[in-house]
Amino acid sequence: MLVFVVKCGAFGAGGVMSQSEALFAQAQALLPGGVNSPVRAFGRVGGTPPFIKCGKGARVTDVDGKEYLDYVGSWGPMIVGHAHPQVVAAVQQAAAQGLSFGAPTEAESQLAAAIIRHMPALERVRLVNSGTEASMSAIRLARGFTGRELLVKFEGCYHGHCDSLLVKAGSGALTLGEPDSLGVPAAFAQRTLTAEFNNAEQLRELFAAKGGEIAAVILEPVAGNMGCVPPAPGFLEAARELCTRDGALLILDEVMTGFRVALGGAQALYSIKPDLCILGKIVGGGLPVGAFGGRQDIMEALAPLGGVYQAGTLSGNPLAMAAGLATLELVAEPGFHEQLGWRTMRLTDELCTLALDAGVAFTANQVGGMFSFFFSPGPVKTFAQVMNADTARFSRFFRAMLDAGVYLAPSPFESGFVSAAHDDADIDQTLEAAKGAFQQLAA
Ligand code: PLP
Repeated sequence: MLVFVVKCGAFGAGGVMSQSEALFAQAQALLPGGVNSPVRAFGRVGGTPPFIKCGKGARVTDVDGKEYLDYVGSWGPMIVGHAHPQVVAAVQQAAAQGLSFGAPTEAESQLAAAIIRHMPALERVRLVNSGTEASMSAIRLARGFTGRELLVKFEGCYHGHCDSLLVKAGSGALTLGEPDSLGVPAAFAQRTLTAEFNNAEQLRELFAAKGGEIAAVILEPVAGNMGCVPPAPGFLEAARELCTRDGALLILDEVMTGFRVALGGAQALYSIKPDLCILGKIVGGGLPVGAFGGRQDIMEALAPLGGVYQAGTLSGNPLAMAAGLATLELVAEPGFHEQLGWRTMRLTDELCTLALDAGVAFTANQVGGMFSFFFSPGPVKTFAQVMNADTARFSRFFRAMLDAGVYLAPSPFESGFVSAAHDDADIDQTLEAAKGAFQQLAA
């Protein structure tokens, strides 16, 4: 039997060990890298990740009792803040009635109806357990529906860890993809073509060469996994037009942007109608949920109506439905996204001013309640520009902010998220911390 005793003030090699350090050491003996998702290990920024004990509103508290203003928000789902009373009550009520049945429940239709109400391009919805599962299933459906095999994805976009999508570009846009992870068969990667995000011309060339073989183009309408990079004017429109012309399906991955950049997601913000759309994060309100949906004729190719198989023991779980429904009710309140957007814009605008005052090369991108910043003079509109930013400076800034009690995404390639619980005083506190952090960088 393994017994771990974690005491405050246990002595580590370098002096007094914090509770987080002790728990991280324990976790590393049990979980690969001490985590269940790689970016949590702080590999990009160094140091020990704080182990979180609890969260309330815009703040989380670690096991050492230190409080942080949280701009990670569980990587997006916590848009109404941590432990929102309405969401917690809905989950408690659902839990009291049973945790899982593996049979239909009314709450599944209620969540699907809420999604469809705000995103009318989704005529039918299937609920799953994660964003990865949603994208994997949507891709199978696109291939099954079109009878084609090739996929197009964009460099710097992430759609979950499914084999077909852990692919990097070959030596040129028109060459076949190469695996971006050990364990991905080359044959899978070769079914995925990779193009440059925001490069409509390259996409046109790709369609000119392969259009008749492409099952689907999958993209994040606002890239969020190379930092936040908004779509260039005409880019989404070009993807829509080429897919329609050549009979490929346009899959918008709104796992991050759905219900965040606008109530109707990026598809509403930019008026782009997808054939299929992938959702996750906010639709589960903090519990494990993903969803995909789209045109009725495509969705009806899914089992049990059609020949594309997809299933899940816990899909549509009652607790997850309750958390998702309560969250969607809150984000649908009038003015919700306007206020979230203004607050996020105030944050990024004033960060830029502070950086300028300190003489630090810095630029920020923001769409609605998501943002990121780059240590480069900017602008940052492409993957290549993202890769040119100074990541060592990011790490120093990140550590200074963490010390000052502001928890940013621990990677220069991730987006930050503001919640409705962040108020003006929280933004003031963040800016005060940033002022000190920029001064340290400039010194
Ligand atoms: N798609 C996008 C745009 C994402 O940001 C993510 C996760 O961050 C995924 C898909 C995968 O979702 P999950 O982590 O729930 O599997």
